[in-house]
Amino acid sequence: MSDLARSWKLYIDGKWTDASGGGTFDVINPATEETVAKAPNATTADLERAIAAARRAFDEGPWRKTTPQDRARIIERLVAALEMRRDRLREILIATAGATWVSLPIQLDLPYQLLGGYADLVRSFHFEDMLPVVVSETPMGTTVNNSMVYHQAAGVCGLIPTWNFPFFTTVQKIGPALAAGCTMVTKPSPYGPLVDLLVAEAVEECDLPPGVCNVVTGDRPELGAALVESPLVDKISFTGSAVTGKRIMAAAAPTLKRVHLELGGKSVAIVLDDIDLMQVVPYASSPAFFHAGQGCAMCTRFMIPRARQEAAVESFAGFLGAMVSIGDPADPGTMLGPVIREERRAKIEEYIAAGRAEGARLVAGGGRPPEQKRGYFLQPTVFADVRNDMKIAREEIFGPVLSILPFDDVDEAVRIANDSPYGLGGALYATDVAKALDVAKRLRTGTVNINSAMNLVNLPFGGFKESGIGREGGRWGIAEYTEMQSIAWK
Ligand code: NAD
Repeated sequence: MSDLARSWKLYIDGKWTDASGGGTFDVINPATEETVAKAPNATTADLERAIAAARRAFDEGPWRKTTPQDRARIIERLVAALEMRRDRLREILIATAGATWVSLPIQLDLPYQLLGGYADLVRSFHFEDMLPVVVSETPMGTTVNNSMVYHQAAGVCGLIPTWNFPFFTTVQKIGPALAAGCTMVTKPSPYGPLVDLLVAEAVEECDLPPGVCNVVTGDRPELGAALVESPLVDKISFTGSAVTGKRIMAAAAPTLKRVHLELGGKSVAIVLDDIDLMQVVPYASSPAFFHAGQGCAMCTRFMIPRARQEAAVESFAGFLGAMVSIGDPADPGTMLGPVIREERRAKIEEYIAAGRAEGARLVAGGGRPPEQKRGYFLQPTVFADVRNDMKIAREEIFGPVLSILPFDDVDEAVRIANDSPYGLGGALYATDVAKALDVAKRLRTGTVNINSAMNLVNLPFGGFKESGIGREGGRWGIAEYTEMQSIAWK
């Protein structure tokens, strides 16, 4: 029997517990449509117990007295405990997120690296920033003023990671939260709850005081809202869509809770006219196949000088046809797996229909692969002659659909790129890197990669505009989980 089919429990206050009433919900494999696990379906009463435990652990427990060195050691222990579970994590990612083997370097390997990185970062983070001494002359005499900025832990954090890269999005929250000395309640997406329950298993081996890390899974819509509204929670870190992000911000207002939002995108890749297309195509076509296009910072708007559009169309169609095998992610040869659920596939198909209706030219895919009889599969799909006012260019599709937008000069490319409610990722392809750097600085996006895949190690990641508020990653990621306190003395 697969490990997935075992009995899963909530992790609250250092103990494993069933959801009140013993309820569970189905965890589905999107490639087979089969239920592969039953996760505990928490009630708001369960969530409130977890929040109370995190509050107690923060206010009264020993956790706040730990030093950065103590916390670095705990993070290292957590990495080691997770290493022992690498095979099980891989199984969960493949069977519940639809992760293909080619995506595992980012789905599985990178989070280990990032989590380990927080151990190094916490050792060098300046929790106490001493400022220069200020000497002031007053009628009472000379005063020597000392001061520092102390970065206190933000407190109890409500963490809401998402399902597309579940290990990655969890690590980018619990890593810095632990590093800063916070306590936390994680409420994962109902599409992908098992990674967090497995992480809780690893946490249990790290001698953390009870209540520091709690994991509550469930598919009740009120669960996330209750976490955001709780007056006992100091900060929310959410990864998900802009629509939900806005709701969370509004719901956090009555308690003036800190909100950290990692939201969606409609990122651009711009090809400058001095680079050979063959160097560009494998990277630039990836939104049409990599993790079935379900990545927040994927460059789904591909912009190319108008005279080169047809060459790009041929290259993309050739590459996708020859290289992209569609199938069950459990097969290491598969490049394109399913999207996460039937309702998400239906939504993507509506976008494909809208692209056609608005006059974009479908040059690859556009339907379901006929050979896949089960699972939520779609063909890698490419539209050309896309205008930036079309729905497929403005809204996040979150499926394997790429739009080609031709442009006449670089100024127009930058204007089109910035004409978006989002501002998350971006890519530039150019031989003249100095020129590309100039263009990069004109883009209103949190990240720009020039001739490279996204680099997430030690760099802050996050969005401008409706792509979010705050940054995850690197020392900036730790700072997000702190409050600045000015202390002065003489
Ligand atoms: P979603 O907005 O549907 O979020 C679903 C999650 O939000 C669930 O856990 C649900 O319980 C919770 N939720 C729903 N309503 C809530 C409320 N009122 N209060 C609190 N929680 C609530 O997003 P999704 O489909 O799960 O994720 C896909 C989105 O995530 C895409 O837009 C993608 O771009 C984005 N994403 C962003 C990043 C990033 O780092 N910027 C990374 C990965 C994914």
